Amino acid sequence: MCGIIGYVGNRHPEEILLEGLKSLEYRGYDSSGIALKNEKEIQIIKSVGKISQLEDKIKATKLIDCNMGIAHTRWATHGGPNEVNAHPHRVGKIVLVHNGIIENAKELREELERKGIVFQSETDTEVACALINEYYEDDMITAIDKAVERLKGSYALGIMLEGSNKLYAVRKDSPLIIGVGKDGMYIASDVKAIIKETNQYILLGEKEIVELSNHSYKIIKDKKEVLKEVLTADVSKEAQEKGNYKHFMLKEIMEEPIVLENTIKPYLDDMNLIPDLTCYEQIHIVACGSAMHVGFIGKQLFEEKAKIPCSVECASEYRYKDVLYDRKTIVIVISQSGETADTIAALRKAKENHIDTLAIVNVKTSTIARESDKTLFIEAGPEIAVATTKAYILQVAMISLLAYRSALVRNKEEKRIENELKKLPRLVEEIINRRDTYLKIAKKIYQEENVFFIGRLMDYAICLEGSLKLKEISYIHSEAYQAGELKHGTISLIKENTPVIGIITNEKIKEKTISNMEEVKSRGAFLITISNSKVDCGDINITLPKISEYLEPILVVPTLQLIAYEVAKLRGCDIDKPKNLAKSVTVE
Ligand code: GLU
Repeated sequence: MCGIIGYVGNRHPEEILLEGLKSLEYRGYDSSGIALKNEKEIQIIKSVGKISQLEDKIKATKLIDCNMGIAHTRWATHGGPNEVNAHPHRVGKIVLVHNGIIENAKELREELERKGIVFQSETDTEVACALINEYYEDDMITAIDKAVERLKGSYALGIMLEGSNKLYAVRKDSPLIIGVGKDGMYIASDVKAIIKETNQYILLGEKEIVELSNHSYKIIKDKKEVLKEVLTADVSKEAQEKGNYKHFMLKEIMEEPIVLENTIKPYLDDMNLIPDLTCYEQIHIVACGSAMHVGFIGKQLFEEKAKIPCSVECASEYRYKDVLYDRKTIVIVISQSGETADTIAALRKAKENHIDTLAIVNVKTSTIARESDKTLFIEAGPEIAVATTKAYILQVAMISLLAYRSALVRNKEEKRIENELKKLPRLVEEIINRRDTYLKIAKKIYQEENVFFIGRLMDYAICLEGSLKLKEISYIHSEAYQAGELKHGTISLIKENTPVIGIITNEKIKEKTISNMEEVKSRGAFLITISNSKVDCGDINITLPKISEYLEPILVVPTLQLIAYEVAKLRGCDIDKPKNLAKSVTVE
């Protein structure tokens, strides 16, 4: 998920690689490294911490004379952030850098160990490296091709071979481009990394293998050469382009770990940056659509953890109803764009009534950001797909932090969650990489007319968003129900194969929700369970890692977003621009 840059050409690669890494620094990383190569030798230098630390190490080393190199910023998923685990990795003749996650790394590692390979690091990356080395006889393309057949998960790989003057790369579900320059060729995980050198680039497709030499490139897929268009980058537009992704929605889901890390970071160091709301006697959360669903998560946490009564209101209703500001109230408004017309009206109503206001928004220059008393910004960057994904996740993170901070003030015994917060982006990364499971579920759902999401308490709040995501992009009718409420009417709609997605993240109500799941199953439902402990009553069961209750929704919702995405894709829908919808609803 982090950064790759590689170069082969007429120049010494040191400066190109370091500049490239620096331009990717904004993505967040924990270690970095480079490998330089000439005909005789390969030199690897790695460091934990900032790129400046790597730079210092490079300066203190006598570098080999060469014209090829690869470099990497690592965002650890397999094994801690230390120098051994940092990339580049080397096994035999192969040296490589990797972005992504090899899902079957454990099995492959065991298989290779049985053949006598001794691994130095804990990474999935070294396994990929060993596999290519294992398959290499005399032709690199064949070796990479064979390895690609075995590797599951996501990867962008920059690869060098001892003794060869070629640079290789391949990718699947993780971005990688080829840069075409005047004095050399490049690989990079992002155009930004090479833009100082060249604006000419090629998008590498899924499982396409590229072989680069000083001034030429060859792209091969299924043993045949493929011809590709050379594109011209406009970096200002780059954030608004899909890159290697088929849809903005997918790109934005894949960005969730990084934007989460960027958003949470300042508060990890100082939780007091989050306002304490314990001086209020009630909270009104007012928003529309997914942002309102964030509110329902907030309500659970404010009431259960911080003991502050909280109501969630739809902004288009709130603006016209007789609101009871009978106790000391704060109004929290939530909007990605900060321009949602109904939410602005609700905010102004609160202000006219001299009520304190707090906003959670993404766009810093927006009307809501300007007009509310306090604002908490999420760092989502531009969100282009109409259906919100990464902004929603960040809004949930922000409301959870708000409830947590008040809970800390209210209850001296409150369990600290900072360590779990730190782990959160990596857990999300693992979850969004389970793409095959989501596709399998989508294949079961996509031809159905109705889908139900059931859960209790917080799980119900999560269901609301899962259901909205599915209906807005796939046009399948779906409903979210409190699991115990279904039998009071709606269960009449369950028939043979009706998909029901049941969520359980709360041990307290686990058995109750399982009973409701059994009720729908015995009426023929196709049951998919999503839980953070073992539940096996479903036709498909997904188990997610256990984490603090404050953070659980942030692990479940990406799963639901990706199921919705795969369903919409199978139905051939216009995923980024669903019919009848607009990104920012600036009308009443
Ligand atoms: N999964 C690899 C690791 O943990 C790569 C992580 C990355 O994308 O930076 O080393």
